[in-house]
Amino acid sequence: MWMTGFRDEIWSRLDQEWDLVIVGGGITGAGILGEAVRHGKKALLVESQDFSSGTSSRSTKLVHGGLRYLRQGQFLVTRKSVRERERLMREGVGLVTPLRFALAAFPGDQMPKWMYGVGLAMYDALAGKWAHESRSRDEIIAQVPSLQGSNVQGGYRYFDAQTDDSRLVLRVIREAVKQGGTAINYTRAEQVLRTADGHVRGVVVRDMAPGASRTAEVQAKVVINATGAWADELREQLGQEKRLRRIRGSHLTFKHDRLPLPEAVSLLHPRDQRAVFAIPWEGVTILGTTDVDHGALDEEPAISDAEREYLLEAAQKAFPALEIGERDVISTWSGVRPVINTGKSDPSKESREHAIWKEDGLLTITGGKLTTFAVMARDVLSAAEPELGPLAARTRVLEPNLEDVEWPESISEDERLRLHGRFGAELSEITQDREGCRHIPGTIALYSELRHAARAEGIVTLSDLLLRRVRLGLLLPNGGLDLISEIRAVAQPELGWDDAKWNVELERYTETWKKAYS
Ligand SMILES: Cc1cc2nc3c(=O)[nH]c(=O)nc-3n(C[C@H](O)[C@H](O)[C@H](O)COP(=O)(O)OP(=O)(O)OC[C@H]3O[C@@H](n4cnc5c(N)ncnc54)[C@H](O)[C@@H]3O)c2cc1C
Repeated sequence: MWMTGFRDEIWSRLDQEWDLVIVGGGITGAGILGEAVRHGKKALLVESQDFSSGTSSRSTKLVHGGLRYLRQGQFLVTRKSVRERERLMREGVGLVTPLRFALAAFPGDQMPKWMYGVGLAMYDALAGKWAHESRSRDEIIAQVPSLQGSNVQGGYRYFDAQTDDSRLVLRVIREAVKQGGTAINYTRAEQVLRTADGHVRGVVVRDMAPGASRTAEVQAKVVINATGAWADELREQLGQEKRLRRIRGSHLTFKHDRLPLPEAVSLLHPRDQRAVFAIPWEGVTILGTTDVDHGALDEEPAISDAEREYLLEAAQKAFPALEIGERDVISTWSGVRPVINTGKSDPSKESREHAIWKEDGLLTITGGKLTTFAVMARDVLSAAEPELGPLAARTRVLEPNLEDVEWPESISEDERLRLHGRFGAELSEITQDREGCRHIPGTIALYSELRHAARAEGIVTLSDLLLRRVRLGLLLPNGGLDLISEIRAVAQPELGWDDAKWNVELERYTETWKKAYS
């Protein structure tokens, strides 16, 4: 699937009548495509850049109920989210995995420890399972030795889950395509098409791949605007007022041996009492996130100096003995939350609920969370029932991945699970590449993942490969550029790029990484 030339093949059949066109290839669009296809609809998804390149590859990678939403009284968001978390862990084994948290309480926290206990009891009750436990100072330090030397008073153990956000989007889209859906990246919905009486009936799309210039008209019974933080742009073409507040969140990444964590740590930031997380992920440690108003979306969002200082201040509070500083940061990334604007002075207080608006036939869905993508898909397709017909009952979101493959001995049980989760029914593509079943140095990723992505995962630019399919740009210092000759030896032949094209792409990737991920 998605070998060289796949985009041309899709362009050649854009001019048919679709049941629905989904604009936006983040997790929201992906979920809608999957649900529409499972209900027998002829669905097309168009993404203006790469799949997941918007916010859905830049999250904190938690599949969670959102404990902090409970604190803000957003019970519905939490209830929905914990239920979805449980479902995704069941269906996405190896991709959505349980994550143990140490909730660390410190002197000066505005939440006393007993209040955490009440919150966690509600959290567990909403999930229908009792999993949290109180911990003394000694117990929490024994479990997370990096907290040694801090003023931690004790806290709680609780559970949530984590994923690789970009791989989740990919898996949802690819499973939908296998079941008859169509998805194309680097194809921007530039203009809304309307009937004489103003009703939206399609979009004009433009090829955004480097060097391309074609456009096409795409007709559909329903157009769904799932463009996340960009959602106001299509709506404004209909004369609608902006409704979104764009809130940036940023992260720092550290090598595991610099900030070793056997489980995630959650704490309140000393400055503003926001919850901040330090999380082990894919062999590194992530620290995030921030909540600041974001301006224009025409450039890749990037961390500011103030956000970096803010996050390092949280690290000082929790892990003072490690003396974590700027020199230890190996990468950063920032994403922009699409949040419905109610004008609150503190961006953290805006609701994370999703919203659906139907305007002249254009259905917009935005807000929400990675965790709740499947609920969002159902809700927006319910709103399209007048045009598309009634929805049948909900089924699975992710297909079972029971493929039995012959594993090389070098791959451990944990790694097998991880690969099962990422590749589902395509797992044998990874394991049959025996020569590639070795680690890319400094990561838990395999060269066979890189080769498979370059061959068959719809790569248009080098950033697609190194930031979103195999996440070397986040996991390695210097964006993985120290390993670029090895990466090139594996990837270039599969991509079919000549040396000139490789060099142009390398230059672009280096620039993007320095601006937005370094
Ligand atoms: C810092 C941060 C941390 C987060 N952490 C978590 C977390 O841990 N857990 C969780 O559940 N949620 C989390 N979230 C929320 C979650 O990431 C988002 O809600 C979710 O990714 C939004 O997905 P989306 O598909 O709606 O938007 P996006 O992923 O932004 O997708 C929209 C897509 O539309 C495309 N697009 C825009 N205009 C056009 C056009 N005209 N034509 C075609 N395509 C277009 C864009 O290129 C983009 O790829 C976090 C968010 C942020 C910012």
